[in-house]
Amino acid sequence: MSDITRRATVTTWVGDVPIGSDHPIVVQSMTNTDTADVAGTVSQVATLARAGSEIVRVTVNNAEAAQAVSEIRARLDDAGVTAPLVGDFHYNGHVLLREFPAAAEALAKYRINPGNVGVGARHDTNFTTMIEVAKEYGRPVRIGVNWGSLDGQLLTALMDENARRAQPWDARAVTIEAMLQSALRSAERAEAVGLPHEAIIISAKVSHARDLWDVYRLLAERCDYPLHLGLTEAGMGIKGAVSSTAGLSVLLAEGIGDTIRVSLTPDPGAPREREVEIAQEVLQALDLRRFAPSVIACPGCGRTTSTLFQEMARDIQAYLKSSMPAWRERYPGVETLTVAVMGCVVNGPGESKHADIGISLPGTGESPRAPVFRDGAFVGTLQGADIVSEFNRMLDAYVEERFGSPAEGARVALPSVT
Ligand code: SF4
Repeated sequence: MSDITRRATVTTWVGDVPIGSDHPIVVQSMTNTDTADVAGTVSQVATLARAGSEIVRVTVNNAEAAQAVSEIRARLDDAGVTAPLVGDFHYNGHVLLREFPAAAEALAKYRINPGNVGVGARHDTNFTTMIEVAKEYGRPVRIGVNWGSLDGQLLTALMDENARRAQPWDARAVTIEAMLQSALRSAERAEAVGLPHEAIIISAKVSHARDLWDVYRLLAERCDYPLHLGLTEAGMGIKGAVSSTAGLSVLLAEGIGDTIRVSLTPDPGAPREREVEIAQEVLQALDLRRFAPSVIACPGCGRTTSTLFQEMARDIQAYLKSSMPAWRERYPGVETLTVAVMGCVVNGPGESKHADIGISLPGTGESPRAPVFRDGAFVGTLQGADIVSEFNRMLDAYVEERFGSPAEGARVALPSVT
């Protein structure tokens, strides 16, 4: 795995999930259902958790939502979905957490945005109330500052202070400083109220990658709390995926970040779990975690003008994806598998030899004949119309041989190749 050295942090437990220190970087996500809709929210949490979200956040914005939380937790438990639930509070969290103790109990963490807990004296009172509840129930909090809802009073005070400097900072630098101070002063206040140091996670989200890098590098210098990383309002589709990847990857490569979320705006009707898949792919691309076999596939070029190669790459990838739920149970470590699917002889045999198992087509205009390599050695050539299904059988056999328990009975027979 990666030689990236993670920044030293304390460990914060969210339910049974450890965050920080040298624990694996945790993938999380958030529902977009109305939390008061118990069935809809249970269904989406379960989908996100089964896709790999290790923590799921839900909006708790009114009495109906708060009332629903414990029932959602109970139904998830009944369904065997153990992912901890986090309550996302803005404006009225101090009221809801007090009025709905069952919600306070069912939630494994409370997200508090210091910019949205009231102003002036009420800010401190409301914030303290939420921290008191967290203490009472033994729950951690995430102090989640957001560029778009920054504590206005603090920002104004820092702008005034800046104006008195001989050489004033630019507005961006002052805003970043306000985010840092909002997060760290809030954490200090939470500890003064009696919340343990290791019950605090910090986030300071912005919507541009470069701003994210600057904010988090400074946060990492100034505290040892676990950091929740994510670009907020990353956007839709490719833009959202790429922006999030750019924002997250640079920091993760520097060892900064203990839990991540990819905040995608889904296309209408698109699966919500796409954000979980992208988060996993980012961690896997950086060799920080492995979730599923890696498929090395070339982009194709003028040597692959038919759709044969594209179909083969798509079908093998789909087979791996569909097999993983069962493989994960049966074959511990199968997520480390590397499979090459290549378009021609230029790089195909080389990449196939580097992978655990690989297949390579010969290129345009040639009959569909595909040499196969296992553990770097040529094992034969598949040909004809059933190349993909035969290769998938070879994959099954390879996975059984390499990751299966010897006690589990008969081996899957290797298909013969010419
Ligand atoms: S391996 Fe062959 S088909 Fe694939 S990109 Fe390279 S030259 Fe093109």
